[in-house]
Amino acid sequence: MALGSFRGGVHPRPAKERTAGKPIEPAPRPAQVVIPLAQSLGAPAKPLVAAGERVKAGQKIGEAQGFVSVPVHASVSGKVVSVGQALNPLAVEGPAVTIAADPEDEWVELTPAGDLEELPPEAIRAAALNAGLVGLGGATFPSHVKLSPPPEKPVDTVIINGCECEPYLTADHRLMVERPNEVIFGLRAIRRAVGAARAVVAVEDNKPDAAEALAKAIPPGEAAGVEVRVLPTKYPQGAEKQLIYAVTGRKVPPGKLPMDVGVLVHNAGTAVALAEALRTGKPLVERVVTVTGSRVKEPKNLLVRIGTPVSALLDYCGLTGEAGKLVLGGPMMGLSQASAEVPVTKGTSGVLVLSPEEAQLPPEAPCIKCGRCVDVCPMSLLPLFLAKYAEHGLWDEAESGGALDCIECGSCSYVCPAKRRLVQEIRLAKQTIQANRKRAQAAAGK
Ligand code: SF4
Ligand code: SF4
Repeated sequence: MALGSFRGGVHPRPAKERTAGKPIEPAPRPAQVVIPLAQSLGAPAKPLVAAGERVKAGQKIGEAQGFVSVPVHASVSGKVVSVGQALNPLAVEGPAVTIAADPEDEWVELTPAGDLEELPPEAIRAAALNAGLVGLGGATFPSHVKLSPPPEKPVDTVIINGCECEPYLTADHRLMVERPNEVIFGLRAIRRAVGAARAVVAVEDNKPDAAEALAKAIPPGEAAGVEVRVLPTKYPQGAEKQLIYAVTGRKVPPGKLPMDVGVLVHNAGTAVALAEALRTGKPLVERVVTVTGSRVKEPKNLLVRIGTPVSALLDYCGLTGEAGKLVLGGPMMGLSQASAEVPVTKGTSGVLVLSPEEAQLPPEAPCIKCGRCVDVCPMSLLPLFLAKYAEHGLWDEAESGGALDCIECGSCSYVCPAKRRLVQEIRLAKQTIQANRKRAQAAAGK
């Protein structure tokens, strides 16, 4: 396998043309925001405010609970309407703070962290934590945790993931074109925090304008340690393990983390958010969201306050014709939504509205054993067998077949001529195996 690529993968229609050239514009400030307290892969934040209180934008309204957790901040100034439960994009109710925005848009006082060259690694990690930073590519893993590798796992290479390989999405692309200095600043800060020698921004070759802007943004004297790497456009190029292999040739073993092979990956949007946190002290209260799809009248890249209802973004961009499916994220790995009355969260990279025809799942046919799903699986799994095990409830066989290594990229389903629901079955297997493990641990009193 030549370096610069990875095994398997597919080439779905990029469908980025409607927004790739559209500059980021601020979305109108919503009348009300619903800010989930669980916005990271870690523990939900503990509320710090009560109904009736006035809050300022940027004010901490939820405190992190434990190391793998991040604080949550108000994205608007206004009055707290309630602290209770609300529907989130995972289609479950979770703790949330609802704020009625006032017209003042009054902010808390923001304090920059100081000169990057003078900052100790702890100060960079503290800035990431205080700003409530999480991975903005969708994984929402707390950034300060990633920036804290243990001494026995030194990181020598930091990669900024600017691939944005999901079709339709252009939020990271626009950030790299419009704010390349902040991407590079964030990269340098991450490198400083973990003491890595090599720093790379990886961009797919369908974004030459982004690669050019980033290359120009590397400060003189930094060139030796910071590079822009252009990779072939292929899905899922932006998946962590595939990206690490393409850039460094290192394989992250099953069940291991990038730091086990000396690498740390952060998304381009996260790098910009870290740059903002360090330079201005601004917490993560807004993010860029691509609003697009065949049913969106005027697709846009919008800078959106966290907690804004998705319905407000659809009102702003307009809809045309009958909508068949609403997805948060991209079409390959995004989450289908039953309602547009869910809030934009730190992990919302896109809002996609498809037509009923596009949304329709073709009928499934029996597997013809063509092997195409095996050929494209970037994790070298056997999707047809894993799905079969799941269909028959053979969870042990699914586990020993590597179901937990599946990154749910959907490449297998995408190429299957029989239209088997492979990724859905394998996802079910993963969930069941994990639930069984938890139950066994609880029964053993661990
Ligand atoms: S089995 Fe998992 S990792 Fe492999 S192609 Fe299917 S979804 Fe992707
Ligand atoms: S791609 Fe579909 S039809 Fe072909 S082997 Fe895999 S599951 Fe069977």
